[in-house]
This record gives sequence, structure tokens and C-alpha cells, in this order.
Amino acid sequence: MKFSHQIQGNALIVTIAGRIDVLNNEAFAAELSTRIKTQGMEIVILDFSGVDFISSACLRSLMLGLKQAREAKVALALAAIQPQVLEIFQLSRIDTLIQCFATVEQVFQTPITLKSTKAQRSSNVNSMSVRFWGTRGSLPAPLTLSQLRNKLTSALVAGANMKLDTVERAQHFVESLPFHIGGTYGGNSSCVELSASDNNVVLLDMGSGARLAGQDALQRLAGRSGDFHIFISHLHWDHIMGFPFFTPAYISGQRIHIYACHEHLENAFRRQQAEPSFPVELSKMAAQIEFVRLEPGRSYNIAGYQVQAALQHHHGDSFGYRFQKNGKCVVYSTDAEHKPEDLLDIKNFVEFFRDADLVIFDAMYSLADSISVKEDWGHSSNIMGVELCQQAGAKRLVLVHHEPANDDATIERLCHDALRLEEITSKGQRLEIFAAYDGLQIAL
Ligand SMILES: [Zn+2]
Ligand SMILES: [Zn+2]
Repeated sequence: MKFSHQIQGNALIVTIAGRIDVLNNEAFAAELSTRIKTQGMEIVILDFSGVDFISSACLRSLMLGLKQAREAKVALALAAIQPQVLEIFQLSRIDTLIQCFATVEQVFQTPITLKSTKAQRSSNVNSMSVRFWGTRGSLPAPLTLSQLRNKLTSALVAGANMKLDTVERAQHFVESLPFHIGGTYGGNSSCVELSASDNNVVLLDMGSGARLAGQDALQRLAGRSGDFHIFISHLHWDHIMGFPFFTPAYISGQRIHIYACHEHLENAFRRQQAEPSFPVELSKMAAQIEFVRLEPGRSYNIAGYQVQAALQHHHGDSFGYRFQKNGKCVVYSTDAEHKPEDLLDIKNFVEFFRDADLVIFDAMYSLADSISVKEDWGHSSNIMGVELCQQAGAKRLVLVHHEPANDDATIERLCHDALRLEEITSKGQRLEIFAAYDGLQIAL
């Protein structure tokens, strides 16, 4: 690994060449830290054109560098990343945190982006973020003992010749493993959180992930009363089953607003807690709870968001939501079947996803399954997600509602397949693709 640099105005261009791996990570981190602290520089650009590999330990060092840059009020950007290295960035989601440019010249052509990113990162008031609390479809699916042991076995074999005798080295090694070995997509059913200001909390669906979402929100509120705005896609069990375990609902003074387009919204919530299904009836919950029926197609202002709902093809109907705030747009579209031959549906949803910064998409099946054995089961595929988002000019696609029968390797493969399809069919603006996992947080 070699470092060299040149200065251009207030920018330091650091050219790095070679392989950045666990063996030279310490040197990489030290060099990075020194360059970021160079006197008088406002921008540090890392020219990655000569880097042909980066390990996860070094990605972590890069993140530490980003933190140092932020503290020093320096904008840090990466440029000219080789495709195989860029793929590592995308797979590890690092590219959502640090700005990546095709060339060094391009960084200078877009100084505004750098400035706005600095502003966004120093102040969260106007930024938007999305957090996934539950990403599994139909039924919670915890990791099994044999799956856990297979992960451990694979990791031990992969690390057999490495000196993993400190916690730090072991952590770096674990982070370098493919996600299906070193991580897990998680087992909770649908629940997603959108960032909100003041004492507002915005949640999408009340699957089993809602239990953790509720606890986290209460911790943030630290004893204050909050307004919980909960948008329900539809009333299938996997999207409401977390509500009886949603702690804020048990606390007097908390205000809970539950929105949906379904006529039977309130009844479905009451019924799942009625005797003999659950020991605490909904009427006994101490929070103030209201049910609000929305109309698809109409625009609402709720918790600082402009919100619109759209009817989706699903058993008993489901509704997608488009949220807009401060020029950013997130679409939540789960439990929706898009048939490739239904041109009107495709046209409608291309418009609904139009120019979205993030589309959260039901990719439960492969395309083959969704148009054969699982046709009319009400769900879509990774392939359909890529096609709709490409046509809509969306920036990011997040695959959710993972099939409970799919293990981590299968979900990872579905994501890779979507990435490959995007790679070979992309025209113009690139679409970023992730498979959501419980705990994933994306800043827009
Ligand atoms: Zn579902
Ligand atoms: Zn459903």
C-alpha cells in the first residue's frame, strides 16, 4: 500500500495504491488520520483508482476517518473506486455514509454536494433517516441453532490461519465475513421507522419488530409524552402482531395515532387483543389511542411529512405509502404483487415510486416463484423491484418482507441477483440496492 498526495486549492487529493487489508490496516488508519488533519484543507479526496481490495477492518478505519473529518470540519470524499472495491462498499452499505464519485474531477464539479453533506451531518434537523426494526414477511423467523452453528463453523474455518487473539482482531475478522456468515437479516416481522422531529415518532406497520421500536422510542423520549404516528399497510397478522407488545401503548400520557385505509382497522386491532387471544384488551391500554382512516390518493400532512397512500394488489388489499419531507422521498410498499403483464399496475407504481430517494419493496420471492407456484400469493420479487425502480428513477431500493423459509445465504443471493441485474441493465443513474436486515439504518 502506497500513499501520495497533491494539493489543489483547499483540497488535498490523496492517492492510495495497492491492497488495503488487515495486515496494513494500522498504517492505513494512521496515514488517513494524518492527511485529514493537514492544515488549511477543507476537502480531502481519497483517490482509490489504485486500490484493488479493501477489507472490512479498513472500512472501519475509513469510518473513523470520516468521524475525524467531521470533527475537523473537513469534507471527506472517495473517488475513482474500482468496480470490485465499489461492490464491497455497496455490500457493506458504506457508500450510504461516505460520498463516492466516479472521478476526482467530478468532486470539484459538485462542491455543493460536499457542502450540503457537511451540513446534513452536523445537523440532523432537516435530514431523513429510515430504520428497520422488522424485515421478515408473513411470520417471525428467528435464527435456528443449526443455522447459528453453521455460521460459527464457517467463520472458524475461514479464520483458521489468522491470528485472532485479541477482541479487536476478532471483531475486524467477523466484520470481513460475508453478511450471511458474519451477520443475519433477522427474524422480526414488518416494522420500519422514519425519523421525526420534536416528540413525534413515525412507524410503518406493527409487526413483531414494533416491540423493540417502542422501547427505543421511549428511551429517546426519556419520560416525556410523545405522539406515535403509526401507518398500517394492511391488517394481516404479521403487520399488526407487535401492537400488544408495544410498550408506549401501556403508558398513560402517550398519544398513539394509527392510520390505515382499511375500513376494519380498529376492529382488527381490538380483535387480536380480545379474549381468549390475549390477556389485555385494547380498551385497557393506558395510552390515548385513536384510529384514523385515510383515503388513497389524497395528500395528508402528518408529523411533518406529506403522505399519500396507494392501493396495492394483495389479498384483502394493502396500501403503500409515499412520504415526502424537505425534498426527500421514501416509499413504503410492502405486501404488493406486481404482475409483469399488468401494464396499468406497472405504470401506476412507476409514478408512485417516481424519483424516490428510497423505495422499501416487497421482494419476498424470486421472479420465477412469483409468476409460477406463488402466483396470486400477493407478493413480488427482487427483479420486479429493480425494474420498477429503474423506470421510476428511484435512487435506492431496499428489499424487505423476506420469506421466512429463506436463510441468510438465500436472502443475500436474492440481493446479489438484484445488484447484478441493475449492473447489466442500468441506463444512466445507478440504483443502489440493499436487502434490509433488522437494525439497518439508512440516512438520506
Ligand atoms: Zn406481510
Ligand atoms: Zn399481507
